[in-house]
Amino acid sequence: MDRLVILGGGESGVGTAILGQKKGFEVFVSDKGEIKPAYIKVLEHFEIEWESAQHTEAKIFNADVVMKSPGIPDKIPLVEKLMAKGIPVISEIEFASKYTDATIVGITGSNGKTTTTTLAYHIMKEGGLNVAVAGNIGDSYAKMVAEREYDVYTLEISSFQLDGIVDFKPHVAMITNITPDHLDRYDYKFENYIASKFRIAMNQDENDYLIYDADDKVIQNWLKEHPVQSKLVPFSLKEKQKEGAWLENETIKMNIENKTLEMNRDILALEGQHNVKNTMAASLAALLVNVRKETIRQSIQTFQGVPHRLEKVLKINHVEYINDSKATNVNATYYALDGIKKPIVWIVGGVDKGNDYKELMPMVREKVKAIVCLGMDNSKIKEAFGNVIDLIVETYSMEEAVKVAYKISERGDSVLLSPACASFDLFENYEDRGNQFKRAIKNL
Ligand code: ADP
Repeated sequence: MDRLVILGGGESGVGTAILGQKKGFEVFVSDKGEIKPAYIKVLEHFEIEWESAQHTEAKIFNADVVMKSPGIPDKIPLVEKLMAKGIPVISEIEFASKYTDATIVGITGSNGKTTTTTLAYHIMKEGGLNVAVAGNIGDSYAKMVAEREYDVYTLEISSFQLDGIVDFKPHVAMITNITPDHLDRYDYKFENYIASKFRIAMNQDENDYLIYDADDKVIQNWLKEHPVQSKLVPFSLKEKQKEGAWLENETIKMNIENKTLEMNRDILALEGQHNVKNTMAASLAALLVNVRKETIRQSIQTFQGVPHRLEKVLKINHVEYINDSKATNVNATYYALDGIKKPIVWIVGGVDKGNDYKELMPMVREKVKAIVCLGMDNSKIKEAFGNVIDLIVETYSMEEAVKVAYKISERGDSVLLSPACASFDLFENYEDRGNQFKRAIKNL
């Protein structure tokens, strides 16, 4: 019996454990930290051997194959030793894809993955396909493969997952955009991170598709120097495309494999330029797996978005409160500020990931009337915007931030939480931050 060792007992680790056991592996899960009680329950239920708070090397080096969870870097001694011994170290998506022949729609990018994946899933589900959504979002891919057969998987895939692939090949791949992120895991070299994202297409051939943002210079330049085998399917807000999607006089137009589709952008339930792009990308994927045009048109009108992404919370005294807690980098916040047409009281701050606020400056000048800083260290924000915004208030809890925003805002304004920063100085994670925001608003 082959021995499968799983490093990390989170969603992808436990999913892989279930699938591995079902496929006849002798499975051992090892987590250096704690494993959540709910996951321990699952492991016990399936009688899978596990350990936490340690890595027993003797057992780990006995593996035939190791699945490393995406949160664990490549450069820790344990992983380096495994590689030196020639033991294959793969990611969950690599492992899971060996056990299904389903059509894979794999979605990566720096921003917009969850929104686009959820939308693509929504359209395909409405189209009556036997489709699952998995990956970085909700349930792990491995768990879904273990559960039952699907015809199509829409997968949200992070660069960390892509780093551990060997043969994984989506039929339809997508790169929503690429901006610098997670550089600490890529030797602080942007090109390493770009290369990681492009691994999504590395096993594709001329029968597969790569959907990507043609307005994204990083993607364009990379493709020029590193051609792929896949059929290219660009989408653009700026330029007409021979095959792909584009915007023409406020109409979204698509042309792919002799199928055409036109939709007025006004019918989208989601707001913001970025969501026009996400809609183009998801709709192209849907066309490629043969969803009917009419279904696509209807589905994008009913899709309400995903919580914590430009989520409308409440209107109080004619002031709209918007939760964009998932905006953990400058690019995501750029699209939030861009998408909102009213004067903005902007709640921003948290753990800075090396942010350069310059690109936000024109929009801040034009639309932001006050800044409410919410973070342990707000010095960079104050420095960046001190000259253009008269009212900058520092706060240290969500309750305080929302109360301040409530006081400052006037009829017709928007209060926007779009932090451009990670959350773990004051919150557990971005969901906690967004939920606290929503609670504080309801308590006003
Ligand atoms: P991801 O899963 O890649 O983090 P999400 O869909 O969760 O992406 O969105 C993360 C943040 O990025 C949100 O603040 C959202 O409003 C913003 N966003 C969504 N789509 C895009 C896009 N295409 N370009 C830039 N920002 C986007």
